[in-house]
Amino acid sequence: MPGEATRSIAPKFDNSYARDLEGLYVEWQPSAAPAPQLVAINEALGEKLGFDLGASSTEQMAAILSGKQLPDGARPLAQAYAGHQFGGLSPQLGDGRAVLLGEIIGLDGGRLDIQLKGSGRTPFSRSGDGKATLGPMLREYLMSEAMHALGVPTTRALAVTTTGEQVLRDRPLPGAVLARVAASHIRVGTFEFFALRRDEEKLRRLADYSIARHYPELAERDDKYLAFFDAVVEAQASLLAKWMLVGFVHGVMNTDNMTISGETIDYGPCAFLDHYDPNAVFSSIDRGGRYAYANQPVIAQWNLTRFAETLIPLIGDDAEEARRQLMNVIDSYPNRYLQHWLGGMRSKLGLLTDQDGDLELVNGLYDVMTDQNVDFTLVFRRMSGVLRGDSGPVRTLFSNPEKLASWMARYERRQFLEALPRSVRADGMDRVNPIYIPRNQKVEEVLAIAVENGDFVPFKNFMKALSKPFSERPELEVYTKLPPTGAPAHVTFCGT
Ligand code: AMP
Ligand code: MG
Repeated sequence: MPGEATRSIAPKFDNSYARDLEGLYVEWQPSAAPAPQLVAINEALGEKLGFDLGASSTEQMAAILSGKQLPDGARPLAQAYAGHQFGGLSPQLGDGRAVLLGEIIGLDGGRLDIQLKGSGRTPFSRSGDGKATLGPMLREYLMSEAMHALGVPTTRALAVTTTGEQVLRDRPLPGAVLARVAASHIRVGTFEFFALRRDEEKLRRLADYSIARHYPELAERDDKYLAFFDAVVEAQASLLAKWMLVGFVHGVMNTDNMTISGETIDYGPCAFLDHYDPNAVFSSIDRGGRYAYANQPVIAQWNLTRFAETLIPLIGDDAEEARRQLMNVIDSYPNRYLQHWLGGMRSKLGLLTDQDGDLELVNGLYDVMTDQNVDFTLVFRRMSGVLRGDSGPVRTLFSNPEKLASWMARYERRQFLEALPRSVRADGMDRVNPIYIPRNQKVEEVLAIAVENGDFVPFKNFMKALSKPFSERPELEVYTKLPPTGAPAHVTFCGT
């Protein structure tokens, strides 16, 4: 039951959001799941957070991580936020199917949110039921943990619990709760909510809190709000570069799905590129291609501009001057993004020094990859073969390998500008170019088996591959299989 006391199998909670930001949330209890069962548990993360994951605590963990039982010291709440969705403003979104249980200080000293997603209606639910179903919650678990293993900043997944009840979507589906771990759940949309209401006092408290929590080194600066904006722009420029370097398509880059911590958040209709296609869209609701693969860095800048608008009243009394200063920071975003991306591309190609012409070299590869039906992940994974003296495996990925020849000659010439041996750099490439990614067909396959048959073994086996994406293991070859040519384009639906 909510509120029931607990032997401490959960770490101690310390709830700074509840304490410091009164008026920015509604205290709210998660609904009690009738028969919670842990179906996926992230043991490594749980231990780092200080949970007791012994066999004797399984039942209690299921109760806690589904919201049925409150851990000691938790002070659950639903956060208010607004957001621009597909370009249009929604003034009131908020946690409509999630509650923040509270915060814990992990064993490494960092403060982390524990949020339950799918734990029932809240005052922000509007017409929704506040529930989530098993497939989408497992999907977020898989995708976010894969991203983490790839080195991309992201919210984490601690557990998925089935609730024991059916949730009605286009058909009845098993209900589930995702226990999500995040640096915080503060979004661009959280700022928009209070800016829209012209509530400067709350806005300032939110900004001060965000600075203290995420960018404490800025707290004493006279220009701290501008510096805060600059830090968020930097975090997002770096994040977007990382998405692009692994071929990740978020699918719903609304401002309520953009964190100020710089972590990836809200895995809905997201996917990884199979073949390289700058226009790739996987979400059934993104009909205009607003959030297509190659559009993402530009959309991030658009979202950051919405964020900047919320900060104008905090920067100074002269709104025009504030706007000018914020615009200067926004104008620096494209080049910052480019530098992060180019730096990452150099690593992917085994180039350790910065040389003139590198951008053209990299762009040249993308030109060659266009319209070649070439697998994005494997092109880079196999590129280390070139440095080891065999370009055959990468060539076979191209439907028209002739087009690759002149680029390859240029790449070979570029090698002479590097001092470190080719073999050493090739090994380095294999540490940044994954071999295992959440391939769309495999994701759908393991989720379908889990949801339809209650069989979680394929899901767990896939997670084993994804949790070490750079280390090739012969027995895991099945996870590198490409979709058959002519397979229908992958589409994901925004599961709620
Ligand atoms: P999302 O698509 O998960 O980013 O959610 C967008 C907004 O819709 C957020 O305010 C959610 O809380 C809300 N929402 C999504 N699904 C539900 C649901 N089943 N019940 C109530 N609110 C929901
Ligand atoms: Mg969202």
